[in-house]
Amino acid sequence: MGTQEDTLTLTPEIWTAEVVYVGFGTPMLKGGLVVVGEHVVAVGPLAELRQTYPEAPLIHKGKALTPKVVNAHTHLDLSTVPYFRGSYTDFIKHVIDHGSNRTEEAALQGLSELQTLRVGGFGDIAYRSEVVEWLLENSSLPGVVYLEVINRNPEQAEAVARRVAQRLTEWRKRKSPLRVGISPHTPYNVSPALLKKLVEMARLEGFPLQMHVAESPEETALMTQSSGPLKALPERYGYPPYQNLPGQTPVRYLAELGVLGPHLTVVHGVQVDEEEVQMLAQSGTQVVACPRSNEALACGQMPWELYLKYRLEPALGTDSRSSSPDLDVRGEALFLWGRVDPRVLVRAAARNGYRVLGLEAPRITRGTPVSQVQSW
Ligand SMILES: [Zn+2]
Repeated sequence: MGTQEDTLTLTPEIWTAEVVYVGFGTPMLKGGLVVVGEHVVAVGPLAELRQTYPEAPLIHKGKALTPKVVNAHTHLDLSTVPYFRGSYTDFIKHVIDHGSNRTEEAALQGLSELQTLRVGGFGDIAYRSEVVEWLLENSSLPGVVYLEVINRNPEQAEAVARRVAQRLTEWRKRKSPLRVGISPHTPYNVSPALLKKLVEMARLEGFPLQMHVAESPEETALMTQSSGPLKALPERYGYPPYQNLPGQTPVRYLAELGVLGPHLTVVHGVQVDEEEVQMLAQSGTQVVACPRSNEALACGQMPWELYLKYRLEPALGTDSRSSSPDLDVRGEALFLWGRVDPRVLVRAAARNGYRVLGLEAPRITRGTPVSQVQSW
């Protein structure tokens, strides 16, 4: 026979929020979860749950109840670079000037933040091989760590691609909850020859690709007109100049080069027109939005209505601590709350994040421990 205390802890409660999403199907605007002790025992529309559990207290949990969310795009090695607001070009200078911060210690700081936030997974771009190796060794969270590749000299394409292939082939033998992938930095920082090789390797070997594309107006100016503030950066830092800029917008350039497809995740996708959104959607390319970073770096905002029109539902990422106040992807959704349908946003933060990283999306059903449920 149970004590009085046992009886109390086992009283059913109905949890509700502005949006309740169980990980599949349509998020519910008037939904709820019945919780007994440490487990969910029922999910469904609030009216039905209240009928079945008339005595259960109704507990409002805030904006949303969802499975664990996913941060689909970040750079943990930038965790100790100070937060920056300003133009995209000045941000790139800020990152280059703090290049020595991109260490395992910074990655540890970022990883600890993600663990504290209890994310269900993450996608990370690491600048140095040492950081990739450190994450493979130390992450208890699943996801993908992408090695960043920057090289504009087409004559070096063969050698760089070979080096990347060697590293990834070795890394993927390691036991880790993380998979390895490749991140060609941007359409203008990798030569077309190298980009083609990396994409071919990714397709043949099954490595996921993640790339910053159509982020800033400066990127478009550089790609289409060979002009704008980004143009002067290589000279400022003594880097080799941009070569053979295509005179095309980033997405059209990638489409022509044969880079788009389901193996590729485009991060940002802000500076796009309707035809480009259609190209991304029809090719099966995945997209990750980072709205708070876009706002901080004066990049504009992704045209969500166009993506949704073509049934391309983006995932969400914070980008790094150098352009985002924290690594909590829920903050990205809340930043857009009301401007974009909240049901789209909770799906973006949960299911779509898992999909982009090739992880199975968890579901909240009868029997799910409440530790697997996140309230926002
Ligand atoms: Zn980024």
